[in-house]
Amino acid sequence: MAPASQLFQYSTASALMAGIASTGIRVSNLLSHGNYGLGTVANVDGEVVVVNGVPYHLQSSGDVKVLDDQQQLPFAMVAHFSKDRSLSIDGLPHKDAIRDNLLRIYPGATNRFIIFKLEGQFDTMTARVVRGQEYPGQSLSELGEHQKVNKYEHVRGTIVGFWSPSFMDGISVGGLHAHFLSSDNTFGGHVLALEASGSLQLTADVLNSFHLELPESNDFDKAKLEPGGDALKKVEG
Ligand SMILES: [Zn+2]
Repeated sequence: MAPASQLFQYSTASALMAGIASTGIRVSNLLSHGNYGLGTVANVDGEVVVVNGVPYHLQSSGDVKVLDDQQQLPFAMVAHFSKDRSLSIDGLPHKDAIRDNLLRIYPGATNRFIIFKLEGQFDTMTARVVRGQEYPGQSLSELGEHQKVNKYEHVRGTIVGFWSPSFMDGISVGGLHAHFLSSDNTFGGHVLALEASGSLQLTADVLNSFHLELPESNDFDKAKLEPGGDALKKVEG
């Protein structure tokens, strides 16, 4: 039997919520575990989306830069698409409809991880970029009040995201977590809402194996980490 497709994750959503974000996994190390995924940069200063092996840093200024190999990411999830399946979709009324389509590809897989990419034209795309901590250890709930939210219309691009089972909430973000990158690589962010009326291509891979790497830092050791709960849903859902 072929080995199960693996999700590789560095640190936990609860650690990020608690503001543990000054150091992290090097980009070069992360990319050895997957060529698609998402995350954030040191001090939560922006969003990260990995598309086809390229790690893009979506900055709150609106710029998009490619991360260099030595940069450290305090939270990230990546995987290699291997036994993936595709589906053409005729429009999406809202973000949660992604889930229904993932379950069309992998019926019943509500308690497993799924990585997906969704490509095409979006009528509206509401995406946010966190502005970054004002001091070390500032919590993500507080940062959630200082995010830059942009609503784009008629944009083409790629969403990379994960469906994580609800029992993983706090370790991952239970439910959908997705980041968007425009097709010209000039803007993007954490997806808050979307609508599409045209055809989209959804590619997904169910991930039955999960590798979690935990930070080795004083900050992480000292933090009082809680399960996800409503605070996490509010910021990352
Ligand atoms: Zn995000």
